[in-house]
Amino acid sequence: RSTDAAAQWPPVLTDREAILVNSFDNTSLDSWANYYGHQVKLAGLGRDAAVWTRDRWIENGFNARLNEYHVYLSYPVHQHLAVTYRNGSQNVINVQEDALPEDDVTGRADNQPTFHGYSASGNVTAEYVYVGRGTGNDFSRLVKLGVLLEGKIALIKYGSIFRGLKVKNAQDHGMIGAVIFTDPGDDGNITVANGYTAYPHGPARHPNSVQKGSVLFLSTYPGDPTTPGYPSHEGVPRADTSSVTPKIPSLPISYEAVLPLLRALDGHGLTAAEVNRTAWKGALNAEYRTGPAPGVTLSLDNLMEGKITPIWNVIGYINGTDASGDALVIGNHRDAWMIGGTGDPNSGSAVLIELAKAFKQLGDSGWKPKRDIVLASWDAEEYGLVGSTEFVEDHANWLTENAIAYLNVDVAVSGPHPGLGATPELHTISTELFKKVIHPNYGAFNQTLYDDWQKVAGGEVEVLGSGSDFTGFLHRGISSLDVGAGQGPTDPVWHYHSNYDTYHWMSTFGDPGFHTHAAIGQYLSLLAFHLVDDEVLPFDVPNYGVELRSYYDDLEANIKESSQALDITDLAAAISVFEKRAQEVKDLEKLAVARGDKELIKVVNGKYRDFQRGFVSQGGLPGREFYRHVVTAPGLDTGYAAVTFPGISEGVQYGNFSIAKEWVSKTANGILRAADILKT
Ligand code: GLU
Ligand code: CA
Ligand code: ZN
Ligand code: ZN
Repeated sequence: RSTDAAAQWPPVLTDREAILVNSFDNTSLDSWANYYGHQVKLAGLGRDAAVWTRDRWIENGFNARLNEYHVYLSYPVHQHLAVTYRNGSQNVINVQEDALPEDDVTGRADNQPTFHGYSASGNVTAEYVYVGRGTGNDFSRLVKLGVLLEGKIALIKYGSIFRGLKVKNAQDHGMIGAVIFTDPGDDGNITVANGYTAYPHGPARHPNSVQKGSVLFLSTYPGDPTTPGYPSHEGVPRADTSSVTPKIPSLPISYEAVLPLLRALDGHGLTAAEVNRTAWKGALNAEYRTGPAPGVTLSLDNLMEGKITPIWNVIGYINGTDASGDALVIGNHRDAWMIGGTGDPNSGSAVLIELAKAFKQLGDSGWKPKRDIVLASWDAEEYGLVGSTEFVEDHANWLTENAIAYLNVDVAVSGPHPGLGATPELHTISTELFKKVIHPNYGAFNQTLYDDWQKVAGGEVEVLGSGSDFTGFLHRGISSLDVGAGQGPTDPVWHYHSNYDTYHWMSTFGDPGFHTHAAIGQYLSLLAFHLVDDEVLPFDVPNYGVELRSYYDDLEANIKESSQALDITDLAAAISVFEKRAQEVKDLEKLAVARGDKELIKVVNGKYRDFQRGFVSQGGLPGREFYRHVVTAPGLDTGYAAVTFPGISEGVQYGNFSIAKEWVSKTANGILRAADILKT
């Protein structure tokens, strides 16, 4: 939901807000980014950066310590890819990224080779088939058109869904390996084909940038795959991982590397138009046909080494004065696939240090937080939200009792345009505070973050799905938010999960001067400040009702489209009860404030903190007990993007009406539980 009142210019800040905002210093942000951008932070190898982070937080008045878990990770040993043509000649494909003399870290020997986290070891040779983005729909089309997939290797374009699901879909169709490539057709206007120069001399994508990343099947459960639902302390029993990690080997490759592979399919198999999937065609000079090309084979060799090994979250805190134990958690992951990681995740890590500093300055002025502030620097997010999930599993009771909200900042900056995802009760405060921060580039035109967000993101707060560390919190019924600034189609291309996501790129193209880092940090500090300082928690619970209505309307439309009958009146009735309770508690809030009744304010705050716990279903969603929120979950076939009323919606989507029916009542019950917690 968007608030339409325009932002005031210049933004008006209270004295305390001004202390926080003015404390942000782009020179120190630059130096934090520079530090992180030169460290080894791959999960399990990043203890130095954990200690350093802890020490910066301690300097800024936080109590801080390392928080260790022993988790299952996998590392690359040997990766090789070659294509063999019909005449027997062989072409070895370069699967590595060039070292760039202009960018000091790209050539470092302690950078990892390109690989997929948790990928299967295997050495396979077969003909290969281009399967588009490798979504469920892509595969259904191929099956329907009779394209033979079994025993072949899948050539898959990155984008649209989580990469682990691409591998899973290939595996489920009997394919024996997967190669996933980056396509410049996904880079907006800034491409070499459009006349832009490639990094490091220009803003376009470097032709051999490779997107690494995890291929865990995390729609089942995130976290350490050997400890589903419980914390990975040293010596705990370990589950078998075979249901959540791929059985077929996979490798990521660049657009330069894929070109000869696509070209070899020209003239063979179906065109994108014949598959009726025009988006299969990318921007490379090839036909993007399915193939296979008879007798043209790929040899894919992937050797990984798995081990149980320590990882290190950093946890810092300052206690609040009100002794309630209520706590705000603010988190960012620290681990990256490569030395760089300056956008993902260390733009957020730099922001968190500067945020700690801002709160120290505010503290030096005599202010103390009412509620506890907890900072978290997560490890092993990249492998599958491992550090944050283990922490949530370890501290589930404490979080359920005390957490008022979780604020996530992963990629704080990969471009100039702010974006926001949040649970609905946080929409009002989070969009209002966008109005208090000056947009670094458009300040000259009297624009705030809010103005840019309206213009570029359409003023839409996204529904949280998955893809970062808020997931564990959200599914315990904790109010959650995720913020960061990204690039639009005319901004320099960001090399996501590539060795070129570096300090050099960030300071030259991504955020020269680190002003966007400062703006996101200012915003996050204001948000944190209000959540720990406001007498009444700044939650708009009636807006949760508004959103439930709109999810309901979407569901109704989907059911109609499926032309099946499903009675969802119980859901409608539950939403009505929720709306009523939300309004009642809002009225109680007004009364409590008008009377200055501290006890009553405490009661209201308790309801605001707790009501989402009611949305958590015991037993979780069908086939994936970790995901428990009845209102939202990452889509089974997307991995990242959210689906609302997931139990019902996915029942409808997959034609399983008995599940859909069961989940109408489970979802309605969850909403009634939440309404009951709000009851005055
Ligand atoms: N953010 C990481 C990625 O996109 C991890 C996502 C996840 O495990 O959900 O690869
Ligand atoms: Ca676990
Ligand atoms: Zn990240
Ligand atoms: Zn990442």
